[in-house]
Amino acid sequence: MQIKCNVLDRQFQMHQSEYEEAALRVLRSGWYILGNEVEQFEKEFAAYTGRKYCVGLNSGLDALIMSVRALGICAGDEIIVQANTYIATVLGITENKAVPVFVEPDEYFNLDAEKIEQAITSKTKAIMVTHLYGQASNMAPIVGLARKYHLELIEDCAQSHGACFDGKMTGSFGISGCFSFYPTKNLGAFGDAGAVVTDDKEFADKLRMMRNYGSRVRYYNEIEGLNSRLDEMQAAFLRVKLKYVDALNSERRKLALAYDNGIKNDKIILPKVRNGADSIYHQYVVRCKERDRLQAFLQEKDIQTQIHYPIPPHLADCYRRLGHAKGEFPLTENLASEVLSLPIYTGMTDTEQRYVIEQINQF
Ligand SMILES: *Cc1c(COP(=O)(O)O)cnc(C)c1O
Repeated sequence: MQIKCNVLDRQFQMHQSEYEEAALRVLRSGWYILGNEVEQFEKEFAAYTGRKYCVGLNSGLDALIMSVRALGICAGDEIIVQANTYIATVLGITENKAVPVFVEPDEYFNLDAEKIEQAITSKTKAIMVTHLYGQASNMAPIVGLARKYHLELIEDCAQSHGACFDGKMTGSFGISGCFSFYPTKNLGAFGDAGAVVTDDKEFADKLRMMRNYGSRVRYYNEIEGLNSRLDEMQAAFLRVKLKYVDALNSERRKLALAYDNGIKNDKIILPKVRNGADSIYHQYVVRCKERDRLQAFLQEKDIQTQIHYPIPPHLADCYRRLGHAKGEFPLTENLASEVLSLPIYTGMTDTEQRYVIEQINQF
């Protein structure tokens, strides 16, 4: 049996006629950029996250870059960010010439709230939290610290659509909740797409201008903007998918539970979920001291796995200029050598998952 990491067409097939109808509706409408579909999706997604405003953008990375920029954070300013996040989180900072200040993760792979305070300096402007692998970060102390030190709070929710902390949606804790709708995400479009959610009208208005060349009224440019618009086609697809995202998340939770209960191997450490937080299992990430051997073993059985992520941002070639050294973030570096993401996707069958579990138990 061949098992892939992602099988994206199954979620298309699950609601095929609705997606096809949405595509035709847009094609026949004669209006393809910033129209009714985007406006409706923005309303629906703001409501889903419990926020007042949503601004549809081109990608998750743009949501991060533009949030930092719209907050006026620039060269020399510092932003606290977890060291084991995806590179895009950090690019959102450095694209604005601000400085990422890395903090080690906790045992749930998320930003360790206890290590934030010691990283705060007079230049710190914001904390950027990633709800990594779909699990909500420890938001109570993080929100407290942001308040205490008057820092902006930006959430990278690219992996956490619908995940909650203390019953409150990720993306609703800080001024900006940044989402990606890249096709593999739990709420995925059929192309690139992203959004910011916020309760701050001025901030939302600024992002709206920024995404459209910096103009509110066509050809009157108030700020130096970009082109980062969510298009009508993707918005129409997302409106369909949004109706099912809770069901899709439940399905992943069930798959995760089956891994929790089925995997019995002393060499493998299963992921944990914090009390009060929940996970939508964007990834199901195990740890193993012999990770590379485990990955090769599974590959031999035709089971694809992935490593999120093999090189932490502070050691990435592109950030050599930041001057970080190996050994500086030992927990993060250790995770990079131990983590392995098992196949988990919409429409994964019992037979497929049982095969993965059996092979893992034989390692
Ligand atoms: C996917 C992802 C992004 C970037 O989203 P794009 O839409 O691909 O630009 C940012 N942060 C995290 C944590 C992600 O997983």
